Amino acid sequence: MCVFCNIIEGNIPSSKIYEDDDVLAILDISQATKGHTLVMPKKHYENILQIPEDDYIKVMSKVKKIAQVILKAFDAKGLNILNNCNEVSGQTVMHFHVHIIPRYNTDDIQIKFTDHSSQYNLEDIKNQILKQM
Ligand code: 5GP
Ligand code: ZN
Repeated sequence: MCVFCNIIEGNIPSSKIYEDDDVLAILDISQATKGHTLVMPKKHYENILQIPEDDYIKVMSKVKKIAQVILKAFDAKGLNILNNCNEVSGQTVMHFHVHIIPRYNTDDIQIKFTDHSSQYNLEDIKNQILKQM
């Protein structure tokens, strides 16, 4: 059983901030910023590619509501909503979850995207994607 399933089953303690029949939200043990929260389905799905749409919608609707509450609770200035899918992206717990990371003027989070557009042709990329739709 994965670590989040163990938390859901009550075998491992956690700081729960929301729970219903389908969704659980807990504080991330590592607190990248104050209020860093994880929202997950109670059923085990490995990642966003595996979770069925109805369960995904249930999780994401709570993500929005809980994000608003967290922002208010700590007077955060914004937030990042983050999901890691598979090891290559940094996923370490293979049970689908969404990070809510409240942002503050003084925090030390850095999410930087380098512009690689000179290496690519946007029209080719668009067509490659459209072929799969
Ligand atoms: P990932 O890297 O898979 O997107 O995120 C996994 C997150 O789960 C990490 O931020 C990590 O701190 C958190 N985490 C790992 N084990 C536990 C735990 O036992 N309890 C809680 N509350 N969070 C955990
Ligand atoms: Zn699990």
